[in-house]
Amino acid sequence: MSALENAEVATKQNGAAAEQQPRERIAVENPATGENVGYVDDMDAAQVAAIVDRALAAQPGWEALGFEGRAAKLRELRRWLVENRRRVIDILVKEGGKTPEDAMLGDLWYVCDSLGFWGKTAHKYLADERVRTHSPMLLGKKVIVRHRPVGVVGVIGPWNYPLTNTFGDAIPALMAGNSVVLKPSEVTPLTSLLVAEGAEAVGMPNGALSVATGAGDTGAALIDHVDMIHFTGSTRTGRKVMARAAERLTPVSLELGGKDPMIVLDDADLERAANMAVQWAMANSGQICMAVERVYVEEGVYDRFVSSVVDKVSRLRQGEPGEPGTVDVGAMTFPPQIDIVDRHVRDAVDKGAQVLVGGKKAEGPGRFYEPTVLTGVDHTMDVMRDETFGPVLPIMKVRDAEEAVRLANDTRYGLNSSVFTRDLAKGERIARRLGAGNACVNDALMNYMAQEAPFGGTNESGLGVRHGPQGIRKYCSSQTIMVTRFGPKREPGMFPNKRVTAKVFERLMVLLWGRRRRG
Ligand code: NDP
Repeated sequence: MSALENAEVATKQNGAAAEQQPRERIAVENPATGENVGYVDDMDAAQVAAIVDRALAAQPGWEALGFEGRAAKLRELRRWLVENRRRVIDILVKEGGKTPEDAMLGDLWYVCDSLGFWGKTAHKYLADERVRTHSPMLLGKKVIVRHRPVGVVGVIGPWNYPLTNTFGDAIPALMAGNSVVLKPSEVTPLTSLLVAEGAEAVGMPNGALSVATGAGDTGAALIDHVDMIHFTGSTRTGRKVMARAAERLTPVSLELGGKDPMIVLDDADLERAANMAVQWAMANSGQICMAVERVYVEEGVYDRFVSSVVDKVSRLRQGEPGEPGTVDVGAMTFPPQIDIVDRHVRDAVDKGAQVLVGGKKAEGPGRFYEPTVLTGVDHTMDVMRDETFGPVLPIMKVRDAEEAVRLANDTRYGLNSSVFTRDLAKGERIARRLGAGNACVNDALMNYMAQEAPFGGTNESGLGVRHGPQGIRKYCSSQTIMVTRFGPKREPGMFPNKRVTAKVFERLMVLLWGRRRRG
């Protein structure tokens, strides 16, 4: 089935809403070739409302399946995705312009792993908690905290990882018993429609997982109807999402941009550090929120590090992604992004940076930016301060670790970070001083696979986390239940107020908290 047919088939699964006349169709383009690969509806607010109504109707039935029932359905969906892996990868490659390796590992692998992870852990993270309260006033009372689904969760996703950063965030929401409406980026909507096709094929209740296709307005409309919003995207749009959600006091979780630093110390394994820098600056053409966006290298190893990176980047193969093993760096997915990348490189060069590799848009019908290495950079340049989100690696020489930490923290972002040194204790000490929500020692990015641990940004990189207990509890509201089994007819302190009772409480207060502690 072609991507276009797939889009049409899957769009029908959005039911009544999709049967209405869409405002217009959005053309989906292969960024590596410029060819059209399908069309999707640009849904308006009424269509979004209808999809959310259907999701609301589906939610009680989905929740009633219980953890095991929902996990079983999601395991079937995982099998369906693996059986249909060629179609999934094909669509990811075509709408994203990424390599099949990136589609398989960065998108499909992650969600398959995640489907199993949340299937196994959701019941533990969301189990009722018996709370032993400290208060003497509550002696003999039972206190329980439970986590219940909010209802309908909206997930708005970006274009860089159309499966991981859209459906991936729906998995814990679904496991918690919510129904979910995805709003994929208008640039890469086909993958989400394919997942919806899979959900129908494995018999998930109609409406438990649906897709609202469209542009920014469609996402904004979704915020107006759902009970919780998870958003992944730029800091600029994240602010708009939060402001809109504030109108109905809808809870939000925001995974936003990053400007992730790497620090390389004199005693680092330089070969590993250089490989990590090149891999995680250039993978998916640098279009990763936690890509290595800037490197600080101690002066003693700076020249060797730079020459190793230059050698590796010069050998990268760029072009239209085809069979696995043929291309390392694919296309730039989002049309305006290539201009942002070029602007950062031009700004750096104008202010004195040297281009050691690449440095310009590549020729050809598709949208490609040459893998680029810059030196002679400093913090007056956009490339060191604003998110570039492209295949550009600026490397800066620093005197020592102190200067590296200071510069790494000179940012308004705080997503991921890394430090390379053979002195593990020192590495950990430096990691603890980095302002980012996540830090690696002798590694980069792979911390994202530790789904047991929270992953989230500080400052302008976001609010809330994915993964770990908080990564599923955010899709729930908590309810505290207190059960009194053997309550007296009248508790102390109840009406009528009596002088003697007030005296007893006053004495008690002085006894408990009014005395100076010894020692
Ligand atoms: P955008 O912020 O442009 O868009 C994200 C999503 O929001 C898209 O689906 C977009 O729709 C939608 N949208 C646009 N305007 C609105 C609005 N007013 N209300 C609601 N939704 C709206 O981000 P990009 O797609 O350009 O993604 C790149 C960004 O995502 C980078 O900054 C990157 O760092 C960040 N990111 C962060 C991650 C993290 O985990 N922290 C992971 C991956 C990416 P449409 O595309 O149709 O306009």
